[in-house]
Amino acid sequence: METTTEVIIVGGGFAGVACARELGRRGIRTLLIDKNSYHQFQPLLYQVAASQIGVSEVTRPLRSIFHRTNTVKVLTAEVASIDVNTHSVTTTDGHTYLGRMLVLANGAEANFFDTPGAQEHGYPLYSVRDATRLGTALVSALNTVNNEPEMEHGVRVVVVGGGPTGVEISGAIAESFRYVIPSYFSPEVAEKCSVHLVDMLPNVLPPFDDKSKAYAVKRLTRMGVKLKLGSGVTQITPGSVTFADGANLPADIVVWAGGLKAGRLIAESGLTLGRGGRVDVQPDLKAPGVEGVYVLGDTANMTDARGDKLPQLGSTAQQAGKWAAKNIAAELTGGSTKPFEYVDKGYMAMIGRGSAVAELGRKRRLVHGPIAFAAWLAVHLVLLSGVRQRATALISWAEDYLTHNRSHVVLGRAD
Ligand SMILES: Cc1cc2nc3c(=O)[nH]c(=O)nc-3n(C[C@H](O)[C@H](O)[C@H](O)COP(=O)(O)OP(=O)(O)OC[C@H]3O[C@@H](n4cnc5c(N)ncnc54)[C@H](O)[C@@H]3O)c2cc1C
Repeated sequence: METTTEVIIVGGGFAGVACARELGRRGIRTLLIDKNSYHQFQPLLYQVAASQIGVSEVTRPLRSIFHRTNTVKVLTAEVASIDVNTHSVTTTDGHTYLGRMLVLANGAEANFFDTPGAQEHGYPLYSVRDATRLGTALVSALNTVNNEPEMEHGVRVVVVGGGPTGVEISGAIAESFRYVIPSYFSPEVAEKCSVHLVDMLPNVLPPFDDKSKAYAVKRLTRMGVKLKLGSGVTQITPGSVTFADGANLPADIVVWAGGLKAGRLIAESGLTLGRGGRVDVQPDLKAPGVEGVYVLGDTANMTDARGDKLPQLGSTAQQAGKWAAKNIAAELTGGSTKPFEYVDKGYMAMIGRGSAVAELGRKRRLVHGPIAFAAWLAVHLVLLSGVRQRATALISWAEDYLTHNRSHVVLGRAD
């Protein structure tokens, strides 16, 4: 069976939702397809994994975002294949949908770089499912340590990848070990647990300034995270991580934050692929070589008006989604498209309570500590406002986070 609409969007992440909202505002008939019935707020996934917040705080049903927009229809289905020439997508249940325009905004997936054992034994962190799976594994490992007091070691976590995701999740797990585990299990269990953050590069947070890197290292170390930098991971087995320099770290849980690539749909689309298996899009966000296909967010390598590469961030995806919708509206009415003008808000990463690093705006103004935390909050409130009418959840989370009020919201769900 085939269904026809004006625009088909694959993926209800930051890019897909922003695009659908703008198309809806203009009354353009749109079909938004996502394999999940909800939009997920990835910036706080690491807190779900560390059992500091619940799943409902990082998800919002896609239908509730569009329930007042008659021209946007939400379909919960997994897209199995796409045809960029006919602008059609086929879902795993065998339905085919045709559009005058096609928007690919289906995000990324973990890139294990063919590291032996990484896919089998590593825990990636890209989706709510990944976060709950990791959180469950952590709680289960803590229960084992708690139930077997004669065990010499506690839960040994190794986080692979010193980018923002790796820094954030290692900081959050170390905080849980420090503030939550002593009261939830016992101080003895907490003392035995450890977190290592490892990376092949000699430092953490590669895109950041040296001062931000030094700040992050200082804060992480103070929180009890041990760093092993400058040697790549060559193998992961059920109990250990092996490095290129011959070292070996015992590990009960390995978090894989080693990199991302565009997923299979893009790989099999026939589009020319660039860095990270993503599509090098034209300045107007269209895929080169085909008509009427836009590729956005984490599936695309996008550039700004000056030709500089744009980072894979929520705000980049959200702005690209809105911009693509305007270009689509222009195309549908016989107008011409415009090159994407990105408003650069900078880079930021949360290290722990009140500790964050931020490099704000195009000029990369450095701020650390509580000011960076506030900047993070401001930027992410804007992101969240794209999918929620009220951002109170994020504000109350921030209050609780700073005052240590919220410590064991969902810990224990592995039972
Ligand atoms: C752990 C983590 C922390 C992050 N922290 C920050 C941060 O603090 N600040 C920031 O700005 N950015 C952050 N990012 C980056 C940011 O979240 C991404 O750049 C952004 O989500 C990309 O948006 P997107 O719309 O391209 O893709 P996504 O948000 O990933 O959305 C893709 C959507 O496509 C759907 N989909 C995938 N395949 C299919 C299919 N076959 N069929 C149907 N649907 C499909 C998925 O279910 C998903 O809803 C973080 C990312 C991660 C992983």
